[in-house]
Amino acid sequence: MTNSRFADIILPLAVRGRFTYRIPDGLMDRVQPGVRVTVPFGGRNLYSGIVCSIHDIAPEIKNVKLIAGVLDDIPLINATQLNLWLWISEYYLCNEGEVMKAALPSDTSLLDFKPRLETFVELYAKYTENELNAFLDKLKKAPKQVELLSAYIRLTGYAKGTGIIPVSKSVLLAEAHSSQGILDALLGKSILTQVSLPVSRIVESDNFKEPIKDLSEAQTAAYKSISSQFVEKDIVLLHGVTSSGKTEIYIHLIEEQLKLGKQVLYMLPEIALTTQIILRLKRHFGGITGVYHSRFSDAEKVEIWKRVAENDPVSGYKLILGVRSSIFLPFSNLGLIIIDEEHDGSYKQHDPAPRYHARDSAIMLASFHKAKTILGSASPSVESYNNAVNGKYGLTDLKERFGLIKLPAIIIGNTREAYRKKQMVSHFTPELLQAMDEALGKDEQIILFQNRRGFSPYIECSECGWIPVCIQCAVNLTYHKGISKLVCHYCGYTTEMPSKCGNCHSTSMVTKGFGTEKIEDEIKIVFPSAHVARMDQDTTRNKNSFNKIIRAFEERRIDILIGTQMISKGLDFENLTVVGVLNADNLLNYPDFRAHERSFQLMEQVSGRAGRRQKQGKVVIQTSDPLNRIIRLVIRHDYVNMFRMQAEERMTFNYPPFCRMVKIIIKHKDRVQLNYFSDLLGRDLKIIFGKRVLGPESPVISQVQLWYIKTILIKIEREKPPAKAKMLIVEAIERLEKEKGASSLKIAVDVDPY
Ligand code: ADP
Ligand code: ZN
Ligand code: ZN
Repeated sequence: MTNSRFADIILPLAVRGRFTYRIPDGLMDRVQPGVRVTVPFGGRNLYSGIVCSIHDIAPEIKNVKLIAGVLDDIPLINATQLNLWLWISEYYLCNEGEVMKAALPSDTSLLDFKPRLETFVELYAKYTENELNAFLDKLKKAPKQVELLSAYIRLTGYAKGTGIIPVSKSVLLAEAHSSQGILDALLGKSILTQVSLPVSRIVESDNFKEPIKDLSEAQTAAYKSISSQFVEKDIVLLHGVTSSGKTEIYIHLIEEQLKLGKQVLYMLPEIALTTQIILRLKRHFGGITGVYHSRFSDAEKVEIWKRVAENDPVSGYKLILGVRSSIFLPFSNLGLIIIDEEHDGSYKQHDPAPRYHARDSAIMLASFHKAKTILGSASPSVESYNNAVNGKYGLTDLKERFGLIKLPAIIIGNTREAYRKKQMVSHFTPELLQAMDEALGKDEQIILFQNRRGFSPYIECSECGWIPVCIQCAVNLTYHKGISKLVCHYCGYTTEMPSKCGNCHSTSMVTKGFGTEKIEDEIKIVFPSAHVARMDQDTTRNKNSFNKIIRAFEERRIDILIGTQMISKGLDFENLTVVGVLNADNLLNYPDFRAHERSFQLMEQVSGRAGRRQKQGKVVIQTSDPLNRIIRLVIRHDYVNMFRMQAEERMTFNYPPFCRMVKIIIKHKDRVQLNYFSDLLGRDLKIIFGKRVLGPESPVISQVQLWYIKTILIKIEREKPPAKAKMLIVEAIERLEKEKGASSLKIAVDVDPY
């Protein structure tokens, strides 16, 4: 067959390989990259997939199947998006279908550009101000109609010469506390009129836009330094201490891009952070600012998707504030990507595939758009700082806090000594109690950080030492007092709190260690008159719970907020003066080569919440190891020496950024089988990579949901392009998959594990 054309289709399946279909003559005009098509796959099922490319290369198989139908007239996915998908699937060794699943709202049929219509209200004609005043005068005896018309004028800012702007009917009626009957009266008098418009044209009032703040001298210098480095470099690292006003600098850079007609993506690692920043951005940039995160419903995601895609000058989003997955939005014209808190581990997706790092992927995305990237942090990742030191990225330092307020004073609460001297009050050292007492006396607010949720990480029989563990995972069960249950934090398994020991039947089960829930309980006893709240995964299950807690704290309805890493970064509270880190030891002792870097960052971040406006804040770090090197560096806020120390260690022991890492995670429900197959893979890889292969070994949590786990780590030289090594790894995995019995294995690959 001559002149046949073929299309490679991305299907939302976790099956390796390309799927090539023949384009039937009748569909030749309509099949183009980025449109959705239906294709037969595996038996009689039709799947919907996305056309990735069109070509004339016949695949080797004989009966190439035909595309069954085309769903879109215009591409749903633009060429740059497709490029990003392909890059992610190649770099992170996953299927394009897996990227597609992560990228699209789950119900793509909602993305059909058939506009749903909504009723809007607008002025019947372009009345002058005098004419409007005359109407208002005539309506004097109908105050409800006056109220409705005034609400329209107020919402649209009509008096300021904005022209006729449609306002959603429901918004208008709510604003005026009015009803359809009142509106009908004004429609009858040809003062207002109703129109049907696509929902996505909802225009938010931009009348309350504030001018952006003037930068301080230090901020101006930083801003200029960034701009001048952008002439030659595409990426600049802004290393600015906490509360140095990085966000205000971003706002200036955003404004510059918007004036050029460009789109801007502003990334944050944590949903909790979007609450405050979105308000700051909307204040200046109004309705062109959208926010995108995983808590949104599919319908909401689709709405945002469309408003980015349509690029409409009025209703389109030009500035997106988003978490990890926002890199997949249909940008057409990005000028700048800001990656705030760039060091944060939440930018890396662990499970499921694609196991992508949103910072690194965003840098690729920016390069596709020929856009610039700013990485911002008070404590950059060793990787990024190293890139800046090497000259690969630009570097801008901002060393002073806005308003020249001093960085918080760090005080150590020595838990070992306090226990010995019997000075501990439950889990609080005298240093922390005193600082809290002083703050409460002055009506100032406090944050307490503990990186464990629940009441206690485990319970134990005090007679025989028996500890309840999960029935599916190799982990202790966490006690949650509020629901009086034991919960597995890995699989969600939940069981009643046992009244007796499961081994010796004694009734002396005791709680061990402490999580946020226990701290909340105890704080209420120590400071009975203080208002206490908790922010962790358990208290923020509802979509709006972040907003509620953050607003309550801003409005000073909470004196003491206890939380996990959710409260540790980015938040900006005026009256917060004291921060307590309840247990630095469990941060420092985590078995990972990044543990020290991470604990420094976490402590620096959480400390940075204290004393951001009027005066210097105070931070009490509780530890049994006050001489620890990392703690000494945190006391001096000495990032650069932390970097030097870490870089030296990693150079010596060959860890990133001085090598690349690929981790293979192998799972099997049978431990013996797992050992057999993982050893087999390990030996095969060692033939290729020699000493660069570490393992197989059991991870800290060696079984989850009945699956036993082994990991193999491969270190690849930085100097060589990684594609070849990655191909060899994939081939070794494919060889293993062909072994008899290997089909009951689960194998995952994690490139640049975090
Ligand atoms: P960072 O992002 O570095 O932590 P922020 O941008 O949140 O710092 O700034 C800290 C505080 O100082 C914020 O409340 C912010 O509004 C205020 N601030 C920063 N720069 C200025 C400025 N140029 N003018 C007025 N207030 C500022
Ligand atoms: Zn479990
Ligand atoms: Zn017992």
